[in-house]
Amino acid sequence: MRAYTLIFWRRTLVTLNPQLHIATPLVESMPLSRAAARPVWLKLEALQPPGSFKIRGIGLACSEYRRRGAARFVSSSGGNAGIAVAWAGRRLGVPVTVVVPETTTERARGLIQEQGAELVVFGASWQEANEHALSLLGTDGVLIHPFDDPLLWQGHASMIDELAAVGHKPGAVVLSVGGGGLLAGVIEGLRRNGWADVPVVAVETEGAASLAASLAAGARVTLPAITSVATSLGARQVCEQAFRLAGEHPLTSVVVSDREAVDACLQFVEDHRLVVEPACGAALAAAGRIRCAAPVLEASANLLVVVCGGATAGVDQLRTWRERLA
Ligand SMILES: *Cc1c(COP(=O)(O)O)cnc(C)c1O
Repeated sequence: MRAYTLIFWRRTLVTLNPQLHIATPLVESMPLSRAAARPVWLKLEALQPPGSFKIRGIGLACSEYRRRGAARFVSSSGGNAGIAVAWAGRRLGVPVTVVVPETTTERARGLIQEQGAELVVFGASWQEANEHALSLLGTDGVLIHPFDDPLLWQGHASMIDELAAVGHKPGAVVLSVGGGGLLAGVIEGLRRNGWADVPVVAVETEGAASLAASLAAGARVTLPAITSVATSLGARQVCEQAFRLAGEHPLTSVVVSDREAVDACLQFVEDHRLVVEPACGAALAAAGRIRCAAPVLEASANLLVVVCGGATAGVDQLRTWRERLA
């Protein structure tokens, strides 16, 4: 009887709710509106069940790869991408292996295992973990990339569809950039809703600013190392699609310090009672000092901040960083 209920429940989930992300709230931030001297709205991706926006694209990609016959998903991300793949695999009934380097925190390891994924710890850095992940694919496994896959961008774009559905056209979108999957997805979403004129403010932290370096050089640059605490922005090179779109779309690149990003996270806990990673705090910090990004903005333009979230740091960790960076 119990088994029957479980099977029925799972089948219902899969057939009636193929979408693995949730539609997130859009709320006005009074504290950030005051700081930016214009209306600031928040798209609360931090409320996605696995803790970040990543499930939008990863959910779509995993559903599509399963439809094409994938029998196993493999991820080499010890961060929010790995957590999202583990979540998607559990919901779709597809086994997941996440290979993480030894540097991955206990908290992140726990979040991956909690979703029933197999956790393999391998190598001193992501490069080694990724190579090991590739060796585990076999014939029917699929590697789910954290930011460089058209299915991811298509899935991330759904957050802009949700704004269009309620007629909320932003004056500008403020978002964080790691490998650039979020940036590519948001621009895809703006374009497919007829909002290609909406500028984007692309934010990184010092020590993880691979887009800013590439825009300055006029070509994609590979950073020698990542030195920021915003590890979720820690792609040494942005994907080609993000770099191309950054050149086509009205866009301003902003770089904030780790200190600003961490302070913005702790302020966000006070103001909105939500914990996010410094990767997300970077966008919040930039929104608060938006006058620096003025060239792309109308004086009164309202802002939309993508509160991308992140589940790998708690309040204690944020406080520890603040003390270290003070
Ligand atoms: C992955 C991630 C980012 C960066 O996204 P990209 O698609 O790699 O640019 C930003 N914030 C959080 C919380 C993330 O997990």
